Amino acid sequence: MAVLYIVATPIGNLKDITHRAIEVLSSVEMIACEDTRTSSVLLQHYQIDKPLFSFHQHNEHHKVDHILNILNAGQNMAIISDAGIPGISDPGFLAIRAAHQNGHTITVIPGPDAITTAVVASGLPCDRFTFEGFLPPKKGRQTRIKAIAESEITTVVYESPHKIIRFLEMLNEFCVDDRWVCVARELTKKFEELNRGLLQQVLADFKQRSSVKGEIVVVIAGKNYSE
Ligand code: SAM
Repeated sequence: MAVLYIVATPIGNLKDITHRAIEVLSSVEMIACEDTRTSSVLLQHYQIDKPLFSFHQHNEHHKVDHILNILNAGQNMAIISDAGIPGISDPGFLAIRAAHQNGHTITVIPGPDAITTAVVASGLPCDRFTFEGFLPPKKGRQTRIKAIAESEITTVVYESPHKIIRFLEMLNEFCVDDRWVCVARELTKKFEELNRGLLQQVLADFKQRSSVKGEIVVVIAGKNYSE
């Protein structure tokens, strides 16, 4: 039996990595990562030189067998993603389930993730919240946005910069009253931004920009929240 380590890596700032993550990544036989070029930057920064192989959403099913073969051979290995914690809107779940089913040990090395960073930074209630991940691009999108508009607790959504304005517009269409939101962009990076306020004001702010770039998490307060 072997150990499959699930290791959290920075969501932007290369310094956001734990001592334990570095220790584990330096000790395993092999590392599965989404994009070998992206992960090489991080690993080289910490002088970690290990064999890497790609494990992303397009080869995840196929690579699970490869991961099991490595573990079955008694070799400990790690999974990392391009950012944050594997398994959260990133590959990981299938391999973790298969490793459990085959009697291997799963050890998570906790660290940064965009959800908790954004929800805490938002200053909106974070005692309870729903994580919606990425909304579907077409079918079912409207239904999910309606449900967010109806939610009594905070919701967290991952959104791309080119869809953020349309997302805020649709949310505004379904919200009966104006709603507190926080658009968290480029967290932990040089141009980090927290655009917090009532939905209509935040939407107006984004609409006047010539373009929106970077990675985005939207935090939407529950419908009865006011301040
Ligand atoms: N596994 C990651 C985690 O633990 O948060 C999430 C991976 S998901 C493919 C990537 C999405 O996470 C981005 O499109 C964005 O919505 C969010 N994200 C990741 N890094 C971010 C950052 N530095 N600032 C804001 N959002 C970020």
